[in-house]
Amino acid sequence: MTSQKLNTFLENNLQELKDNGLYNEIDTIQGPNGSEITINGKKLINMSSNNYLGFANDDRLKVKANEATDTYGVGAGAVRTINGTQSIHDELEAKIAEFKHTEAAVAFQSGFNCNMGAISAVMNKNDAILSDELNHASIIDGCRLSGAKVIRVKHQDMDDLRAKAKEAVESGQYEKIMYITDGVFSMDGDVAKLPEIVEIAEEFDLITYVDDAHGSGVMGKGAGTVKHFGLQDKIDFQMGTLSKAVGVVGGYVAGTQNLIDWLKVRARPFLFSTSLTPGAAAACIEAIDIMSSSTEEHERLWENGRYLKAGLKDLGFNIGDSETPITPCIIGEEKLTQRFSKRLTEEGVYAKSIVFPTVPRGTGRVRNMPSAAHTKDQLDIVLETYKKIGKELDVIS
Ligand code: PMP
Repeated sequence: MTSQKLNTFLENNLQELKDNGLYNEIDTIQGPNGSEITINGKKLINMSSNNYLGFANDDRLKVKANEATDTYGVGAGAVRTINGTQSIHDELEAKIAEFKHTEAAVAFQSGFNCNMGAISAVMNKNDAILSDELNHASIIDGCRLSGAKVIRVKHQDMDDLRAKAKEAVESGQYEKIMYITDGVFSMDGDVAKLPEIVEIAEEFDLITYVDDAHGSGVMGKGAGTVKHFGLQDKIDFQMGTLSKAVGVVGGYVAGTQNLIDWLKVRARPFLFSTSLTPGAAAACIEAIDIMSSSTEEHERLWENGRYLKAGLKDLGFNIGDSETPITPCIIGEEKLTQRFSKRLTEEGVYAKSIVFPTVPRGTGRVRNMPSAAHTKDQLDIVLETYKKIGKELDVIS
């Protein structure tokens, strides 16, 4: 007999979500995640992955993953601090530190638990965290978990950051104060104003934490947003994921040796959750090697981003002010945005709608994530399809 209370709770809440159109049906992909995907047997041009460089199904990475699986096994067998650290994990961390130009790095099983673990390892109830209001959910949860006072800062508003940093310092209430921001914001493609952030951080002695999930592999010739601005010595935490441009899975923090030593004894997912699989670690190493030795994929990503943006703009769509290949097509009203995305899928283009509460009400958008793996022919089909649906739904004239 299962719990009656639980069943009632689940049934009521699931029904409420369904009644309000908020229940997310999951699309299952048959086969790899590339520039084309198959859903329900139908081939679709994929504009919704974070697979920026096309590495998720790259043969070079697959070979390394298979070799490492043969050498080390399919699983690490334990958490990092018992005996789940294999030489491939040490190799990956050394590779990340080299790529990020830092003294050291620590790898986690995902970007999400990296943020949860790293923030709460350093910050506590005697501290304050200034956090951009559009930061990712894993940052929000990591901040909450830490017990620190969380102070929301208006999105990319440097005056607000300065005022709140000043107020926090002058209150004398906090031992440490951190400012945490995404490096690239994934909904609009805007880039954190790191030079100004560093200036404010120096003035008020703030700890700086940049979540570069969407900047790594994309900004700074691949090395990320911090490198883009040449601020490697000025940012305390360079956090990133191994799941987006790197194409595999995992997260990391790159920073000073002391910071990494501390995270390895205090970040709870490192201590209490089994290590990355050896195959994943090896594939990540190969991705970083490719990014370090060639800018081919990187250039194609940016070229494809420019091409798509120019095409959509020419058609009369509002594409916002993205500074990266991320290309939102802002439709506005929520239902119309969802209808637009559904029609695109019916016509062979998979581009997800993003609406309130993920973005402010009335700014619903279909978000396009061009990648190095897309061909010009595919992007032309995408543009033709946008033109057709845009006219059909009166979004463009
Ligand atoms: N930070 C940001 C900014 C992200 O966009 C994401 C992924 N959506 C994460 C962290 C979590 O990364 P992962 O998917 O590797 O857990």
